[in-house]
Amino acid sequence: MATKIIDLRSDTVTRPTPAMRAAIEAAEVGDDVFGEDPTTIRLQEKVAQMLGKEAALFVPSGTMSNQICIKAQTEPGDELLCEANCHIYNFEVGGPAVLSGVTCRVIEGEYGILDVADLEGKIRPVNDHLVRTRMIALENTHNRGGGRIYPIEKIRSISAWAVQHGLIRHLDGARLWNAVVATGIPADEWCKYFDSVSVCFSKGLGAPIGSALAGSRDLIVRAKRIRKLLGGGMRQSGIAAAAALYALENHLERLAEDHRHAQIIADAIRDTPGLRLDPPKVETNLIWFQVDPELGPAREIANRLRQHNILVHPAGPQTVRACCHLDVSAADAELVAETIRRTVPGMTPVA
Ligand SMILES: *Cc1c(COP(=O)(O)O)cnc(C)c1O
Repeated sequence: MATKIIDLRSDTVTRPTPAMRAAIEAAEVGDDVFGEDPTTIRLQEKVAQMLGKEAALFVPSGTMSNQICIKAQTEPGDELLCEANCHIYNFEVGGPAVLSGVTCRVIEGEYGILDVADLEGKIRPVNDHLVRTRMIALENTHNRGGGRIYPIEKIRSISAWAVQHGLIRHLDGARLWNAVVATGIPADEWCKYFDSVSVCFSKGLGAPIGSALAGSRDLIVRAKRIRKLLGGGMRQSGIAAAAALYALENHLERLAEDHRHAQIIADAIRDTPGLRLDPPKVETNLIWFQVDPELGPAREIANRLRQHNILVHPAGPQTVRACCHLDVSAADAELVAETIRRTVPGMTPVA
């Protein structure tokens, strides 16, 4: 048997389980561009109901989902307020500018989390010289913020502030499911403070493909047109939707296991001289840590762990990300923790 690789680079690396593959095989399909794919329709209804929205739309990726929501709710020359380290601004190829003619005004939060105080004064006055501040996007959990959960009272106050200023509110909920499971606050409660929401099935939930956006019926009609424009109209999409449905029905509660496994690995990092958890508290399935330059660059740690069949993501010169997911067992997490404790302190310091 091939050596098992424990792949912590991302929670997107999961493979469909045999049961998920069986659900894919059994999926009833039709042409979804004609609105005739029963499995996709079922998924969209379930997502809308879970998120407490009128309707939802299945799309190929979280990037497309976020960008459709921006395009559907802005005009060129509008401005989007977002956190400086958010996915929409940093990791979506400049989508707001390229696809919507929208500029981003970024505001640095504390590990991705903003306060109303950070936003006060950021609405441009009505003036012929100025862009129109039109929309705000929040990310929950926050990837670059270390998988942090947005405190719900902050969401409530930011949402109230946004409504007061006539801003459209968007939630990038790629990992909203992790926040739901970690807090016990249901998805529809998190979502009721937003006009549009994007969620992913291909992260911790373990589906191979797909995201969904949700909002009012009118938003979804416009979103469907934009999905077609962007080339995201899919035909027998029930093949992918079946996996997403299976994931929602069978892999949601188990995200708690990923959170427990992340704690096992976080403890080892906390105990290892030269490594520093950043943020210091691990709240969900993501573990971000800093490597003291004395131990070498982040990629050196990644190389060292790779020799032990453990893959992590060097996300910056001294920054590493590790993710727990469906394909990482408790025993795997213990092995990773043990390997870090045993091998990292012995690394030869760079001269
Ligand atoms: C992964 C992710 C997305 C979407 O990514 P895709 O790879 O396009 O599916 C969006 N937002 C956040 C916070 C993410 O982590």
